[in-house]
Amino acid sequence: MSKQTPQVGFVSLGCPKNLVDSERILTQLRAEGYDIAYSYEGADLVVVNTCGFIDAAVEESLETIGEALNENGRVIVTGCLGVKEDEVRSVHPGVLAVTGPHAYEEVMRAVHAHLPAPHDPYISLVPPQGVKLTPRHYAYLKISEGCNHRCTFCIIPSLRGDLLSRPVGEVVKEAENLVNSGVRELLVVSQDTSAYGVDLKYRTDLVGGCLLKTRLKELSQALGEFQAWTRLHYVYPYPSVDDLIPLMAEELILPYLDMPLQHANRDILKAMQRPAASEKVLERIRRWREICPDLTLRSTFIVGFPGETEAQFQELLNFLEEAQLDRVGCFAYSPVEGATANALPDQVPESLKQERLARFMAVQEAISQERLTAKIGRKMIVLVDGVTEEAVIARSAADAPEIDGNVIIAGGWDLEPGDFVEVEITGSDTHDLYAEPVL
Ligand code: SF4
Repeated sequence: MSKQTPQVGFVSLGCPKNLVDSERILTQLRAEGYDIAYSYEGADLVVVNTCGFIDAAVEESLETIGEALNENGRVIVTGCLGVKEDEVRSVHPGVLAVTGPHAYEEVMRAVHAHLPAPHDPYISLVPPQGVKLTPRHYAYLKISEGCNHRCTFCIIPSLRGDLLSRPVGEVVKEAENLVNSGVRELLVVSQDTSAYGVDLKYRTDLVGGCLLKTRLKELSQALGEFQAWTRLHYVYPYPSVDDLIPLMAEELILPYLDMPLQHANRDILKAMQRPAASEKVLERIRRWREICPDLTLRSTFIVGFPGETEAQFQELLNFLEEAQLDRVGCFAYSPVEGATANALPDQVPESLKQERLARFMAVQEAISQERLTAKIGRKMIVLVDGVTEEAVIARSAADAPEIDGNVIIAGGWDLEPGDFVEVEITGSDTHDLYAEPVL
């Protein structure tokens, strides 16, 4: 790469969906011959891909823009916070340009305006899988943008718009490129994965010479043909999810569902404008486990939502006991600027929210720990994430990267990130399992 090659610095904040946007912009930059700088000093300008989901994320985004301005001085802002251009410019009037989320072309136009592209676009060849920000052996696969729901605590639809699915042929092609480049785990993400294709009326598309519907079941079947794990995130418990469980039982895709439920009480769910009554969810979970006993269920919940009474909170704890979910994240409700839930009456005092959060976590921790302990003595295939002199850090089908636990194999084994290996589970703690390779 010549010294004259324009250098773009990049900071990516927020969720995996934002990370996919960053990868797409980076891929375009490389395709046009820009080089990626790994320090502020080395960059001719810096793109900051922001998050604006909750107040803490807004704060972090504004701080990062400030840091980039101090260290480099030439900054283009994109991502969710970019929707609030006035807010960004009122704090940082010196930014070069501000664009909203998934505005790839606008970002590229701003880059071109402030840092012209090199004349020869062939000076750097982009690999077909694009530029990835994740380790080489796993990758996020974004199947749609936006969301048709209007949950009262969430501002995603106002930031990212209504559901916009990618045609199934395009998604499967991207997955194929990723697997060919060494990816061993595909993490399917979107705001609402079960709704995939609804906006396209499940239109058919060409995949490897066959016509496939743009729908989650067909997409999962196609992804299941690759020599890689397929893991589904943000799957809401619609009836159509029932069709995915047999694919999991057949080991076509991982027996894992990341299913944000948010609450169990009908009135709170109604106030949140969420679908799905909890009895139906419990019944469904029971049926799913009959078909696929190894199914791992992860969910997230909000406690202390406006109006939540002690009895409603207790109902949530009872639900946890009944549902026996494997992995659970929980947040104390916090108002997000622009969310309609802010106007709801009976906001729960902060101290009570925190108390409920602690009680919730205590109940779930005992459940999670018990479910991990039950795995001791079992044999399973794990995917290696990292190797040090002391240990091999791996994950099983039950563990998504970043959010779930690990399977830790003690001792120096001749393994590399991306290897699949069979292990026997020998121990557990609150989050992780301990194992030995099966020789
Ligand atoms: S389903 Fe609800 S919480 Fe999820 S992105 Fe859509 S509006 Fe937000």
